[in-house]
Amino acid sequence: MSTSFLINEIYPCLQGEGINLGKPSLLVRFQICNLRCVWCDTPYTHTFKSDPLNKTEPNGKQKYIRHTLESLIQNIQSQNINHLILSGGEPTLHNLGLLMRSLGKSFSAEVESNGTRIPHLQVPNFLEDDYNLMQWNISPKFSNAGEKIEPEALKHWANLSKTNHSIFFKFVVRKSEITKDISEILSLIKEYNISNDRVFLMAEGITVDSQLANIWLHDECLKYGFRYTPRLHILLFGNKRGV
Ligand code: SF4
Repeated sequence: MSTSFLINEIYPCLQGEGINLGKPSLLVRFQICNLRCVWCDTPYTHTFKSDPLNKTEPNGKQKYIRHTLESLIQNIQSQNINHLILSGGEPTLHNLGLLMRSLGKSFSAEVESNGTRIPHLQVPNFLEDDYNLMQWNISPKFSNAGEKIEPEALKHWANLSKTNHSIFFKFVVRKSEITKDISEILSLIKEYNISNDRVFLMAEGITVDSQLANIWLHDECLKYGFRYTPRLHILLFGNKRGV
């Protein structure tokens, strides 16, 4: 782990999650993920097999670039948007604390993480105070993604959420397996003592149709006191990269 950052793409959008839904934001997509979810919609963040430098797509667009802390800050500051979405891949593989401390208090951020890591134990120079510099949208991936929970890491986020009110949990639910998925989510939040009020449900899918008329999910949210979040970028643009 160093202070270099592998960045897949950076672009302005209205892509905030949860309480920031629709907020003008700068999406900073980090390269690399430690999971391989079966329905991952950003496989291009973790499919490279060699050094990522200078790799390009057929259209000539660079797939990812290695930024220094200074060059990443310069890029972010040049875009005149002070709310960041730190996404991936898995952004906690990078030093987000150092990034946000260096950007300063005029920037806010929310992190889209799979919740399998404990930054202050696993990322050099990530300080416990750094948790307060960002909103954390923790999206644990469970059996419907073909993945397993990391118990110690989820326990960490659940415990932290008791005192840090900027920590939320987002679960992806499949319409075709709603009973199974909801049952597993209920077991998880009970086991880890996560407050229902901090939980968002989101419908799995990369088509506009998958994000429309989700009364089935609305009803589950009302029943259990969960929040609902749509995939706003899919509703606006479909499954198009870079918007
Ligand atoms: S955690 Fe996110 S980026 Fe990583 S494989 Fe799963 S869906 Fe894809």
